[in-house]
Amino acid sequence: MSNRAEAALKLEEGYRKILEAIDLMGYPVKTDDNFAETSGRAARAMSELIKPTCEINEEIDLMLSRTFPARYDEMVISKYNISFGMCPHHLLPVIYRISVAYLPGSRVLGISKLSRLVQLLARRPVLQEDLTHELAQILFERLETRGSAAYIEGLHLCMAARGIEAHEARVVTSGVRGVFRDSPATRQEFLDLVTAAPLNLL
Ligand SMILES: [Zn+2]
Repeated sequence: MSNRAEAALKLEEGYRKILEAIDLMGYPVKTDDNFAETSGRAARAMSELIKPTCEINEEIDLMLSRTFPARYDEMVISKYNISFGMCPHHLLPVIYRISVAYLPGSRVLGISKLSRLVQLLARRPVLQEDLTHELAQILFERLETRGSAAYIEGLHLCMAARGIEAHEARVVTSGVRGVFRDSPATRQEFLDLVTAAPLNLL
């Protein structure tokens, strides 16, 4: 059996146990049809929120093998990418608003690929701090740029929906490499651009 198939089975087994616990809490798990296929459905939902590492790595390799010659050397920013992830401490969803930027070297990444890269790396059970630094690192080292930056605001359901119930609190992290690290003006330009109020398009 492939790891992927085994993981799907284990998730479903796990959710069956969770449903047994919910039954013990007095909910009609055995009689209400809404729970009838929940273990499988919940397992599939969870596996959408956590992508297998091999799939992520393959897609990133492919993405980085299809870059374009740089025709400019100004900052490229992809901002306010809404992405979903999972916190490793509670396995509860995190809603991220992620902005990334780089100063091109000889190659650039298609602009939609930047958003894709952000989404791919978010869908893992990793700390927001690590996600921030990995994004900056990939855009610096693997894209061979002059500098890179990532700025992430995270709404962690483990903080907002339980525990201290900090409904409005956002966790903010940033990571910089190369010119963004060495030049305070470049870093500030990036931060000003990604922390400006978003355009209200709706
Ligand atoms: Zn958490």
